[in-house]
Amino acid sequence: MRTKIVCTIGPASEDEAVLRGMIRAGMHVARLNFSHGSRADHERRIALVRRVATEERASVALMGDLQGPKFRIGRLTGQGIELRRDQQVILSDHPNGAAIPLPHPDLLAAIQVGQRVLIDDGAMALLVTHRVDETTIACSVLNGGLLTSNKGVSVPGLKIATSALTPKDRDDVQFAIAQRIDALAMSFVRSAEDVRELRRLIHDSGGDQLIVAKIEKPEALDDLPNIVRASDAVMVARGDLGVEAAPEEVPFYQKRIILTCLRAGKPVITATQMLQSMITSPQPTRAEASDVANAVLDGTDAVMLSGETAVGEFPVQAVEAMARIAARAEASIIYRPGALLAEVRDALADDDTTDHKTDAITTAAVRIAETIGAKAIVCASASGFTARMIARHRPAVPIVCLTPHERTKRYSAFMWGVQAVIAETRKTDADTLFEAACDAAQWLGCAQPGDTIVVTAGLPLGSGSGHTNVIRLMEVRA
Ligand code: PGA
Ligand code: MN
Repeated sequence: MRTKIVCTIGPASEDEAVLRGMIRAGMHVARLNFSHGSRADHERRIALVRRVATEERASVALMGDLQGPKFRIGRLTGQGIELRRDQQVILSDHPNGAAIPLPHPDLLAAIQVGQRVLIDDGAMALLVTHRVDETTIACSVLNGGLLTSNKGVSVPGLKIATSALTPKDRDDVQFAIAQRIDALAMSFVRSAEDVRELRRLIHDSGGDQLIVAKIEKPEALDDLPNIVRASDAVMVARGDLGVEAAPEEVPFYQKRIILTCLRAGKPVITATQMLQSMITSPQPTRAEASDVANAVLDGTDAVMLSGETAVGEFPVQAVEAMARIAARAEASIIYRPGALLAEVRDALADDDTTDHKTDAITTAAVRIAETIGAKAIVCASASGFTARMIARHRPAVPIVCLTPHERTKRYSAFMWGVQAVIAETRKTDADTLFEAACDAAQWLGCAQPGDTIVVTAGLPLGSGSGHTNVIRLMEVRA
């Protein structure tokens, strides 16, 4: 399996045996959802993932997912409130009587008559009928249901000029840095500037975490190429995207986001409800199998499990099912190398921001490897840039990234088909590096003595990112 799997860790997966099973089934990234759980919960899970991964000799990256400016209903007393169709309700940040508490004055002030308020991922819907005061609105119920405390609230199309980082997010960033977590996912990104704001915060706090931009607001689509450029990876966050936009738009947003990421050579994760029924069933539905396979065929680098592994009854089976479906999709002839490439190349024709030298070298390396039947493409890539540029071609042969940096090794957990090996690629001579490439391919079981591998490097060594300038064919020696 070349597709990477991201698993959310929660009460269902913090058991050592379960986690071991998930790692063996192919988990590459452990996601900690900062919207749920206490500091102590996350600390315990981080320590457990690290220990079990080390015991399994597996490299598992840790990703903290920031809650972002998610609006929530306040505390309700008793069993909650039953909302009936056409009923009139009041939402306020200073509720009295039967008003529903919504502790977000900025949202209440910005909302307009005629807009819809969606509650609990769209399970309930209200229509704003009139304004009562600055931070109180009256609504009629479009879709009813039982409203309970803290349910998520969204208002499609509403733009509020607040930071994409809440005080809680800022705290969680400090926690992630202290815990040396590998990546931070940023929720409700609106523009590249939001991503740069998080980058500055991480940097000023002494961290170097990777940033995964979650695309879940239609606004973000307007600035997508810049967001992709500013981020280290991207997530198609279909849960909120399907509320902020509409469910029928999600498949097309997914394809557009993935293609933009392929063009840029940035890893992309497809997320939410992929195997949703496996929360309570040991088998995926046919629709879910199709969804995972189609995400792979769209060109996603990684697929994600949320509730399935966090709170589901069958976390290990969910990872196993994910791995089987992805592997089958990768084996399909419609996934042949070159099919994606043609689309990427078309898209690249009007993209003037790509590094053309690295593009040319990596494209040629993939072509050469497939023409001569090489057993691996090994790149010396300190930052992971060359590895990403090779991976976007989805070559049939294994991709090995030699890097001196632990950070790049973790980054490779998000990159389709890339395995990373720590090696000193800067202060060595070229011949030693080419031999190290052979050793790594052999050590990973990709190549045997007598096999040929394709190696790329930037000579002189240590010249930094964007300097890949050599392709060399190496015969692996005994
Ligand atoms: P969430 O993000 O699970 O943190 O809301 C993913 C999504 O919205 O799809
Ligand atoms: Mn979300």
